[in-house]
Amino acid sequence: MDNILLLTHSEADGSVPKAALEALSAAKTLGAPVVAGVFGGAVNAASLAGTGVTKVLVASGPAFAEPRYATDAAAATALAKASGATVVVCPATSRMARVMAGVAHRLGGRIDTHVTQLVNEGGPTAIRWYYRQRIEAKLRRKERPWVLLVDPGATAAVKPEGSAAPPVEAVTVAAPEVRTSVSGVRAPSSGEQTIRPDAKLLLVAGAGWTKKQADGKPHPEKAEELILSFLRASGASLGSSKSLVDQAGEGQKVFEFMSHLNQVGQTGATPRHPKGLATCCHGEEPHVVGWRFIRERRAVNLDASCGWARGKADVLYVADAFAVMEKVNALLAARK
Ligand SMILES: Cc1cc2nc3c(=O)[nH]c(=O)nc-3n(C[C@H](O)[C@H](O)[C@H](O)COP(=O)(O)OP(=O)(O)OC[C@H]3O[C@@H](n4cnc5c(N)ncnc54)[C@H](O)[C@@H]3O)c2cc1C
Repeated sequence: MDNILLLTHSEADGSVPKAALEALSAAKTLGAPVVAGVFGGAVNAASLAGTGVTKVLVASGPAFAEPRYATDAAAATALAKASGATVVVCPATSRMARVMAGVAHRLGGRIDTHVTQLVNEGGPTAIRWYYRQRIEAKLRRKERPWVLLVDPGATAAVKPEGSAAPPVEAVTVAAPEVRTSVSGVRAPSSGEQTIRPDAKLLLVAGAGWTKKQADGKPHPEKAEELILSFLRASGASLGSSKSLVDQAGEGQKVFEFMSHLNQVGQTGATPRHPKGLATCCHGEEPHVVGWRFIRERRAVNLDASCGWARGKADVLYVADAFAVMEKVNALLAARK
């Protein structure tokens, strides 16, 4: 039987990230006891109380506080070695994704990424999608240790039962020499944070928001105001079609709070919010691929025969999105 390790960094407050509790859910389906390995500036092992892990191996200290390849890779390698694990399950946070290929190499193992599910079919089996979520594959490997990065949002987080704190074991890691010091954080988007992975709703904005409207003129400022007001009042996350974010490169008016990171679709993201609302959007990619994992989907489009919205939304409102969102924003404001 394989020995399973859940390997993760901690958050600034010492707790484990939500994505780690999701990866733990996936790891538990393998049917073997799971040991946790956590590294970071501080580690609060109590955040794994009641989750069923049998032990928590900890590598903590100021040297591991900041995400940095050298120190993260050293800590992750030491924890994996100390656990003797043959299967290492990690949340695909940017911090883990950056180092785990190197860690798998240092361990003499193999790595698979973008795992959405783990199952036990006479041995650990990883499920992931290829070709932008169009083909689902099941993977098994003979090589060990096998490192698996589980995509956030694909599995429900483990729900703690009781408060039994697992035993904690400190692992000493010789911090390597570092050449990189962290002087601060610069966010990619200059304006407002519009990507909210935990939001219940994804608002997809298409290029129609910047197109000429019934009066023969475009109204990008009005569009910007409507979208931002909606995001602020609803807490929704913002997705965009490629056409809309590409306009920045062509020097046209584009929303300041939006970047390519918002793009959904074949060459963008495939987020997993429970609900989605597409507005002013026609494209195949955002509708067919971009919100493939969204469970309840609605769209607002002036074009009644917009085939992609019609084919891929549960409800299509044939209406002017400017008027609809104005009304929705007024209703949200009235509820406050
Ligand atoms: C290799 C490749 C990869 C691609 N990858 C992606 C990808 O990852 N993601 C992606 O999005 N695209 C991708 N595309 C582009 C994609 O094919 C479409 O061109 C793009 O999605 C269209 O964007 P859109 O729907 O916002 O704009 P448009 O096609 O211009 O549609 C605008 C829509 O707005 C509606 N509209 C206008 N005014 C209003 C109003 N007042 N109220 C309501 N509706 C209104 C119109 O009826 C129209 O349907 C890719 C293309 C290629 C070739």
